[in-house]
Amino acid sequence: MTYYALAQRTALVTGAASGIGAATARLLAAQGARVVLLARRAERLDELAARIGADGGRALAVTADVTDQASVDAAAERVAAAYGRVDLVVNSAGVMLANPVTEGRTDEWQRMLDTNVAGALRIIRAFTPDLTAVAEEGGTADLVNISSIGAHIPFTNYAVYGATKAALTYLSECLRTEFGPRDVRVTNIEPGFTDTELRGHIDNEELSGQLEGMFGEVGSLASEDVADLIAYTTSRPRHVNLRQLIVLPTRQA
Ligand code: NDP
Repeated sequence: MTYYALAQRTALVTGAASGIGAATARLLAAQGARVVLLARRAERLDELAARIGADGGRALAVTADVTDQASVDAAAERVAAAYGRVDLVVNSAGVMLANPVTEGRTDEWQRMLDTNVAGALRIIRAFTPDLTAVAEEGGTADLVNISSIGAHIPFTNYAVYGATKAALTYLSECLRTEFGPRDVRVTNIEPGFTDTELRGHIDNEELSGQLEGMFGEVGSLASEDVADLIAYTTSRPRHVNLRQLIVLPTRQA
């Protein structure tokens, strides 16, 4: 598949150390975009940057923690110094932790809220000036948020995770009303089961086993399937905004 017009773009992908973020960074780079890889695990980012470079692409590894304002500020400075303005931002950094709310796991709640909601907001705050400036000069500018089907469907014991994703979906919708009139596109992508490291962080063995069972039963998307949609949507003509995409494995209800 050829995606048009990505070769001139400068993208920043959060959560690029693994899963959907890593696959998206690889695909955008393969299409000629310069790509900033952002996550906490420096070694993973360096490996991916080297792999992209070996394939003929351009990538910059920037270690940062989206839950830490100073870390995001420092990352934005590094990106500006190395690449100038970013015109395509993908918010893929996220965590999914599962437990009944009655367990009262405030540590997990805080981590999910800080990463999935406030973390996305920190990235939006840091790079919105780039997006609006590029659009104002006639360029194409995109903000892509990776939400989840969990924003719409209640999954028992995933209440807080689902709530963070519902917040991101709502935020995306609302931001379209602010950014659309400024020619910045906002796309909210809501995947179903995708085979990544995400489910490996659940510390409740029973729930973890249940989830593995569901993955086995209905199958899963590959990270590359979601990356493909991101490349597709961001390579449409400037006046076309695919605002919301729900993508599920075919057998997932
Ligand atoms: P992964 O766990 O593979 O990727 C999550 C990425 O986020 C990792 O690269 C991780 O890197 C990064 N990350 C986590 N915390 C932080 C932080 N504080 N600062 C910076 N980066 C961070 O899972 P996925 O690829 O599946 O997840 C990507 C997105 O897709 C998430 O938002 C998730 O909620 C969403 N999603 C996933 C689905 C699935 O079934 N997999 C379904 C629906 C939505 P590091 O640890 O190095 O920081």
